[in-house]
Amino acid sequence: MASDMTRNNSTLLLLLFLTLFIFYTSHLVNSSNYVYVPYSEFKLLVAQGKVKSVWFKGDQLKAILKQASALDQHSKKIDSVKTYTPALGDDELLGLLEENKITINVESSDDGNSFISMLLGLAPFILFVGIYLWFFRKIGASMGGGLGQDKRISGFLKPTSNVSDAPPDTTFDDVAGQENAKQEVSELLDYIRHPKKYQALGANVPKGVLLVGPPGTGKTLLARALAGEAGVPFCSISASEFIEMFVGVGAARVRALFDQAKEKAPSIIFIDELDAVGRARGTGLGGGNDEREQTLNQILSEMDGFSGHEAVIVLAATNRPDVLDPALLRPGRFDRHVTLELPDIVAREAILKVHTRKVPLTDDVKLNEIAAATPGFSGADLKNLVNEAAMNAARNKAEKTCMDDFEKMRDKVIFGSARKLVMQPEERHRLAVHEAGHTAAAFYLSEADPIHKVTIIPRGQALGLTQQLPENERYTLPLPYLKHRLAVMMAGRVAEKTFLGNVSSGADDDIKQATALARAMVSRWGMSPEVGPIDLRESDEHPFLGREITTPRTHSESSANAVDEAVRKILMEAETLAGDVLEKHKALISKLVTQLEAKETLDKDEIYEVFNEG
Ligand code: ATP
Repeated sequence: MASDMTRNNSTLLLLLFLTLFIFYTSHLVNSSNYVYVPYSEFKLLVAQGKVKSVWFKGDQLKAILKQASALDQHSKKIDSVKTYTPALGDDELLGLLEENKITINVESSDDGNSFISMLLGLAPFILFVGIYLWFFRKIGASMGGGLGQDKRISGFLKPTSNVSDAPPDTTFDDVAGQENAKQEVSELLDYIRHPKKYQALGANVPKGVLLVGPPGTGKTLLARALAGEAGVPFCSISASEFIEMFVGVGAARVRALFDQAKEKAPSIIFIDELDAVGRARGTGLGGGNDEREQTLNQILSEMDGFSGHEAVIVLAATNRPDVLDPALLRPGRFDRHVTLELPDIVAREAILKVHTRKVPLTDDVKLNEIAAATPGFSGADLKNLVNEAAMNAARNKAEKTCMDDFEKMRDKVIFGSARKLVMQPEERHRLAVHEAGHTAAAFYLSEADPIHKVTIIPRGQALGLTQQLPENERYTLPLPYLKHRLAVMMAGRVAEKTFLGNVSSGADDDIKQATALARAMVSRWGMSPEVGPIDLRESDEHPFLGREITTPRTHSESSANAVDEAVRKILMEAETLAGDVLEKHKALISKLVTQLEAKETLDKDEIYEVFNEG
């Protein structure tokens, strides 16, 4: 094997050397000491009697001067020149040379250099053939009598997995929250540690566990922690790495990965992004699909092939369980599903604790407050937030990371970086009025989420922002809450109407979001008495990606009209509610507008101070 590789490499080296040699020799042949001059200047030198002899070769003309002399465009003295004869010919030239008694030599244009020219022409071809041979020998060496049959794993077929003999040093302590998932996965621990006990009783332990959850919720981390706790090697690979340009390579890589894991058993195989190869078969077109299906078939047959005494557990992660091939999910394969959720407030605090272990913090940092201010953040988002905050502290040359670093970086992560925008005073005033409207509605409406902050500094796509933070995690959304939430969304536009007498395009995103929410209330949650409790949605939301997948409409035109009408009614009611609130507190809202224009950003305390005065 090693000598094969050496021989292949030396062939390539030889070809490279040959190519370089050809280029080098051709360069030598073409190089000369002659200096190029225009044809007219050459004739002038002849006429001035400075030329001793000339050589004709094809259209090339070289001349030796009687003595070295400095020419116009050359600083050095020159003793020989070169030029090209005009294609139209020059009847005078021969007479002129003879007149000046110049020795005339003529060389044949066909000489030994033509061989070199031929080689030069062939050089790219030789190089291409060399690389081609080298590449396919490399594949061939690993395939042996058939793909991977001889169990030799070359660099090409070797899965790009991370396999180490030593177990990972991650443990369940590094996985914060996710108690249910940890509990389910830890049931496998005893089997991995003492497989014989189970085998003696003829117990069938699950071979495959599917970890399902949104991106960044710690699926990889949990699998690694299981290997760390069990003290066994961890072989991990991303399913997308199986797929190559050549059909069959993915299957060979799967075989190689399972072989490696079996050699090291007891061990854990972790396949990330299983949906990259595990989508239901028989869908899509083209060779890439064949390759994917072959790879999937190989995974299935490898999982079937485990004999009872091989303690290898396969964990796989996906955030699209709905698209997986049913054969992957049947008993004996990935029949056990463990769901990882986005962390709640308690888990977020625990995750922040894990990731701030090595980050020096000032006393004002309250991890519970950061956790409360980051709903919807995944474990990966929180880790990133800690890192950004620490980097901000380092940029400010501080010795410890403080609460302000977290607050600033949280806003940056959620809303994007602050933008510098030159705004006309009237436009800035309108923006302050709009945001003050949202803020007042959030403050005065009893069911709305409490107000956290308001700013008129443009960030990301938004010109201004009003931020509310729920006091507790919400798992369901009651109707009164939704009505007040819609009124807060509409309050920006209503404030413009109330205080400036007209509306602007600034409510674009508010209207979009409010319409989507109202549509969900009507078509999914049965919250419109006119439409009733009937599912009239036109798209399906993916549970783990939060994306909508459009499906063909199954209801009638009149139902669609009824939904539109009910959505409009809900939005108009929200607008009226917002109008009533703002009308009642006009004086204090004006005060808030003035403060907002002066300070640009107001935090919760400053907002409460203004409104509580009244
Ligand atoms: P993907 O679906 O994108 O592959 P994943 O669910 O596999 O994501 P991981 O790669 O395990 O997510 O997590 C990303 C990072 O987030 C890890 O470095 C980990 O440190 C951190 N993280 C995620 N969840 C947790 C958690 N519960 N406790 C501590 N750290 C976490």
